[in-house]
Amino acid sequence: MNINHDFHIHTSLSLCADPATQAQDFIVPAMEAGIDRIGISNHFWDGEVEPLRDDGYFTMQNFERLSRELEYIRSEKRISVSFGCEGEYDPVGHDVAMTEATAEKFDHILVPNSHTHLVMPDEYWDDIPRHKEFLMTAYTDIIRGKVSKYITAIAHPFEVVGYSREKLSALVATVSDDEFKRIFDETAERGIAYELNVGGGRKLTREEYESSPSIRMARLAKECGCRFLFGSDAHAAREFVYFKENAEMVAEALELKDNDIAEIGR
Ligand SMILES: [Zn+2]
Ligand SMILES: [Zn+2]
Repeated sequence: MNINHDFHIHTSLSLCADPATQAQDFIVPAMEAGIDRIGISNHFWDGEVEPLRDDGYFTMQNFERLSRELEYIRSEKRISVSFGCEGEYDPVGHDVAMTEATAEKFDHILVPNSHTHLVMPDEYWDDIPRHKEFLMTAYTDIIRGKVSKYITAIAHPFEVVGYSREKLSALVATVSDDEFKRIFDETAERGIAYELNVGGGRKLTREEYESSPSIRMARLAKECGCRFLFGSDAHAAREFVYFKENAEMVAEALELKDNDIAEIGR
């Protein structure tokens, strides 16, 4: 299957990205890989929502900052570039940290339930049952929240940032198929896609993917009728190099067909 999109690209507007990275850097590599639709998805916390903490992550990555690239994005004609964000879950408001008025301004919106290193109390980190509970609550709050209809995809569902593969396997193993199916059924019903977060910094082998906790979740999501969106999560162009072949390997492992891909990614 030909994967022709990558909707999860960061630029220097994300505080954690390479400060030299610009949206322009991805155009030629994308074209060379046969990718004709990309989505810029920088980290975002809406200035209209009380910051979770008083640090730059929650106060600086606002709409004014993300829109600095908008003029360039609208002027790019070589491939289609979508103006979006990777929003955050706000555990205080039990909702996405974004107003509807702000959500309307983006072409696409990704929201993860798994930025627990940022938004969850530290003491839950190694406590698998509480960490799992936090992820489940965040997930349902996100898909049922006030900007639900604007959400394009759940970014890297349950793939906890900063967790080792072993820890993630242990956590995911505590979630039953029925628990996953309940929330993935609802995700499909609401027309929210499931992001297949496939890094492009190095070549991923089929064996590696087959033995990862991610494949079980993705298979259940497919069974529930979820549509998929691919994203490299590249924070620099060098992290995009193997994206296309990795994404196609994942699509093959999941036996995806064209109609399994979210409309926006086609
Ligand atoms: Zn993320
Ligand atoms: Zn990201």
